[in-house]
Parts: sequence; C-alpha cells; structure tokens
Amino acid sequence: MIETQIRHITEQCQNHQTLVAVTKTVPVKQMERARSAGITIFGENRVQELLSKYDYFIDTEIQWHLIGNLQTNKVKYIIDKVTMIQSLNRQNLAIEIQKQAQKLGISMDCLVEVNIGNEANKHGLAYEDVEDFLAYLANNCPNIRVCGLMAMAPYVKKEQTRPYFAKMYRLFYHCQQFSTVTDAFQVLSMGMSHDWQVAVEEGSTMIRIGSAIFSEE
Ligand SMILES: *Cc1c(COP(=O)(O)O)cnc(C)c1O
Repeated sequence: MIETQIRHITEQCQNHQTLVAVTKTVPVKQMERARSAGITIFGENRVQELLSKYDYFIDTEIQWHLIGNLQTNKVKYIIDKVTMIQSLNRQNLAIEIQKQAQKLGISMDCLVEVNIGNEANKHGLAYEDVEDFLAYLANNCPNIRVCGLMAMAPYVKKEQTRPYFAKMYRLFYHCQQFSTVTDAFQVLSMGMSHDWQVAVEEGSTMIRIGSAIFSEE
C-alpha cells in the first residue's frame, strides 16, 4: 500500500534524506494518496506529463522536480512550475535555463547530472568533466543556483551499486571544495527503488522513488 511503503521508506532514512516520489505514469488519484501520506515533492521525467498533472495540485504544498532529460525548447514551459531541475546535463540546456530564468527574474535551483557508470544509453556529464562544467555555470549562469549533483547507478544487482554511489559521494565532497560552488551545494540525489538503501549508506541526501511506492496497485 502506498501509505505503508512511504512510512517504511521514511523510517529507514536515518539521516532524514529528502524523499522525492517519482510519479511518472502514476494517476493523480494515487498521487493524492501519497500527498496525504506526507509526500511534498513529486518527480516527473516528462514535461508533458508534469504539465498535465500540475493544476490538480496547484492549491497544495506540493513541489515539482524535473528529473528526466530536458529538451531545451521545453524549458520555458516548466521554468515557473518546478522548484528544481535535477537533470542539468549539458551546456546548451544551461544556456536556455539561464535565459528563461533571467527573463522571469528568478533563480533556478538545479542539480548537475553525472553519468557515473559512463553508460552510452544514459545522459549526464562524464565524471572528469564535472569540474569544468561547474566553473562554466559559475561564470556564465547567474540565474542558476547549483544545489548539488544527481546520478543513477547502472542497473546492476543492488549490492553492486555500492562502488558507484561511493564514487559519486567522493566527487560530491570534492566539488564542495571548489571555489566555483556556493553554500547551496548540499544535495546529492541518488538512490531509486531497488538501490536506495545502498545509496543512503553511501551518503545520499535525496532519494527518488517510484515503483517501490506506487507499483503494487
Ligand atoms: C523513474 C526514475 C526514478 C524512479 O525509479 P524507480 O525504480 O521506479 O524508483 C528515479 N530517477 C529517475 C531519473 C527516473 O527516471
């Protein structure tokens, strides 16, 4: 049950990791149950789907995170609706977010997405390109507030994800020492339904859970 799953996950988050309920393909009726059970952040990976559900929760405390690869031409549709873009993964996307955020006079919270397993089918920066990208953002995107890093482990057995998360934590910690990041750089978003316990053990501060909350109904 949605309520039981949410309680189960929150109870295991000893360091009070932020729980993002990933609601792609989940109908609003079930999302409403998750909200009643204490969820305050929904994560969607498609702009169209986020927009189709947005109005339903407009009078609530719900915040939206964009977690999937974002086409530059769609930034303008979500820039005033999401509280965080977790999938900032390339320069032309940064340019567009900067442009749209500047237009509205806002600062957009973003996470830099890292392709920690160097997988061809996944988006995100290569590990060794992160430092330069953070410098680029610091120097060129005053309306982007870089709040940390996001990553997905390769789809391997649960325990085999550990070295990837550990590597990600070391990168995160390393980045915090750079002069190009600010005090806002506090979020390490990693861990999904099948591997979040490992991610939490390795230093995740934000987990993104879909099927483990919503799937059995
Ligand atoms: C779908 C998705 C999740 C959640 O996946 P589950 O395995 O259903 O928990 C997390 N992060 C991203 C980027 C996703 O696309």
